[in-house]
Amino acid sequence: MIKFDSVSKIYKDDYVALDNVTFEIKEGDFVSIVGASGAGKSTLLKLIYAEESPTSGTVYFNGGPLEGMSRRKVPFHRRNIGTVFQDFKLLPKKTAFENIAYALEVSGAPTEEIMEYVPQIFEIVGLSDKVNKFPHELSGGEQQKIALARALINKPLVIIADEPTGNLDPVSSVEIMQLLLKINKLGTTVVLATHDKEIVNKATRRVIVLEKGKVICDEEKGKYKIC
Ligand code: ADP
Repeated sequence: MIKFDSVSKIYKDDYVALDNVTFEIKEGDFVSIVGASGAGKSTLLKLIYAEESPTSGTVYFNGGPLEGMSRRKVPFHRRNIGTVFQDFKLLPKKTAFENIAYALEVSGAPTEEIMEYVPQIFEIVGLSDKVNKFPHELSGGEQQKIALARALINKPLVIIADEPTGNLDPVSSVEIMQLLLKINKLGTTVVLATHDKEIVNKATRRVIVLEKGKVICDEEKGKYKIC
């Protein structure tokens, strides 16, 4: 599904964000990318999303290299990926329902489909009773669940989540992790970048540890640790 083959990313001023990184993520995997701030986690996600390109090496997605992809093809690639961030990025003047419906409208879905599909998505994230609330009427954890619902609407192959619990209390953080695990069980590959030790240890799923841009360990059923 996703493969990094000897990938390095050097930003301007010779800052090495990723250093010869190689790993493979199979369809249906749940992978936590952990490491200190500045270790290269966000850069790794940005390479998957084709928001940055590698300085050397190749990133493969769904069988093909991202290298050389034309600008025209980037939106099609991104349609395979749902994204979630630390700040929930909801539209403040739209209700929870409208936030999700809007994202579907933008992708050209007919009204009938929107009316049928949005409630299903709310059910998955367990917020069917909050559809008519505005973001400011929801807790941080609830807002992040709405953001996750929105990430799911195009039925992506992969969810990438960059510090999704960074603004949440420990209880909400565990709920978001449980939701990510549920989404994974329903068939979506999940790549999570985090330095939230609690949630990683609770999940006991694969952990890739980055340190100064290098993969220093990669373990199935891993724990958060600095190897
Ligand atoms: P993490 O997500 O683990 O905190 P990042 O991938 O955001 O790490 O960043 C890795 C390093 O690369 C950071 O220390 C930062 O200084 C550098 N970096 C990230 N983005 C840029 C950029 N656009 N330009 C220059 N340097 C960058």
